[in-house]
Amino acid sequence: MLPILYIIIPCYNEEKVLPITSGMFLDKIRELVDAQKISDDSRILFVNDGSKDRTWEIICELAQQDKHYQGICQSRNRGHQNAVLAGLMEAKDVCDITISIDCDGQDDINAMNDMVDAYADGCEIVYGVRSKRDTDTFFKRFTAEGFYKLMNWMGAEVVFNHADYRLVSSRVLQEFANFKEVNIFLRGMIPLVGFKSTSVYYERHERIAGESHYPLKKMLSLAFDGITSLSVKPLHMITGMGCGIALLSFCAVIWSIIVQVTGHAVAGWASMTSIICFIGGVQLICIGVLGEYIGKIYMEVKHRPRYIISDRTQKREDD
Ligand code: UDP
Ligand code: MG
Repeated sequence: MLPILYIIIPCYNEEKVLPITSGMFLDKIRELVDAQKISDDSRILFVNDGSKDRTWEIICELAQQDKHYQGICQSRNRGHQNAVLAGLMEAKDVCDITISIDCDGQDDINAMNDMVDAYADGCEIVYGVRSKRDTDTFFKRFTAEGFYKLMNWMGAEVVFNHADYRLVSSRVLQEFANFKEVNIFLRGMIPLVGFKSTSVYYERHERIAGESHYPLKKMLSLAFDGITSLSVKPLHMITGMGCGIALLSFCAVIWSIIVQVTGHAVAGWASMTSIICFIGGVQLICIGVLGEYIGKIYMEVKHRPRYIISDRTQKREDD
């Protein structure tokens, strides 16, 4: 039996891109079907992430044109990670494999052939890894690579240069559905499920049209989410830093006693204020980091739904 593939594509304000890339995805499905690698029941599942432009209308039109297109609509914009999750959860019971990919044509869709082959060889997860970033601007490359290094340094292990272009089998998704957390960072969580995995390499292109929705600010917040949802290393670092500073302060106390006893005490205003400011600053940072974790716990205990699907595309009349 040939596996049923669902390509999961999150879309947010992509009216310029969708009409171009949707055809490319369909061609890829047809090519894989013709090569007898996947079943003809395979689908392209668009997840409209509360777009404010014509994205959803375009998805509905596509669904009427070809049975391979399907779409779900989130009730509002919830961000890329939640959109992908919604698509994966929608697909997990009706397919054998999913491939998540952005809709902007940046990730080379030909890597899907290798992914499907790797699945046929027994891998349940196949990570798409960017082999080079020549087309990215220096700034994007620098910040993006810094992102992976920071993540790993902070204890959130992620596959270097892998974003959210990956094949995941429905077997893995069934297990992944038991990960109930609200703060989701898929590329760090999927490896936690385990199972046999491998990587395929591809070149990343420029966006076909439109603009990136991941400016530096969003990237930093994604990195922060990743670190705090996968690792408690910052808390350990705070403890370590606290011990170091306590030791330094202890030495400073001894030093000030010696100075006092030997009668060389001076006004000492400058050193006093700087120490107070320094300790105050360090304490505030530490409280801030603790607060971030408490904030995450607060979000988790509320157990709010991670996505809400408001609409689905209709089946075509002749299907
Ligand atoms: N996206 C989304 N919700 C958002 C932001 C982005 O579903 O709130 C989608 C977007 O349509 C695209 C993918 O996530 O398919 C990646 O976004 P983008 O290309 O802007 O990010 P970049 O590739 O620049 O990191
Ligand atoms: Mg992109």
